[in-house]
Amino acid sequence: MARLSHKTGVEEKGQRTARSTDVYLPKEGKEVSWCKKCGIIYRQKRWFMDPTELEQVKADPAAGTLVCPACQRMRDNVPGGVVTFSGDYLKKHEEEVLELIKNIEAKSRAKNPLGRIMEIRQEGSELTVSTTEDKLAQKLGRDIFRSHKGDLHFKWSEGENFVRVEWKRD
Ligand SMILES: [Zn+2]
Repeated sequence: MARLSHKTGVEEKGQRTARSTDVYLPKEGKEVSWCKKCGIIYRQKRWFMDPTELEQVKADPAAGTLVCPACQRMRDNVPGGVVTFSGDYLKKHEEEVLELIKNIEAKSRAKNPLGRIMEIRQEGSELTVSTTEDKLAQKLGRDIFRSHKGDLHFKWSEGENFVRVEWKRD
């Protein structure tokens, strides 16, 4: 079922699922845990990066260790979103767009440290970015669309927190 949104140039397909259970979320247990791969801390259902606190948590014998959802997705190569950028316009502005993609990720990570870019692939005139969370994929598409116009499409996978985002400008 295709649905055109009121915003010009943006098309959304499929339905976004309301917060389904994420298989990568840790089971309840320890008061505080940290990720062995990236050092993110998990406490009271919140994830955060804090190097000073990480040292204290590591020294705490009651603290648990885990592999956070972002690191698990990277290990299993299971992205939460994939964004493709294409079109003639991209060829001329690729550096600029790439720079912006990295800035968007950095800003987003300050708020949500689990939303990360897994991989950026450049193939021919196409740029493919996979992310650990669907939200970051959407944000990349929306922010590039906002600053560079073009056409933006979202395709939601049913029953999953997965989105395919396509941006194109000729
Ligand atoms: Zn991690």
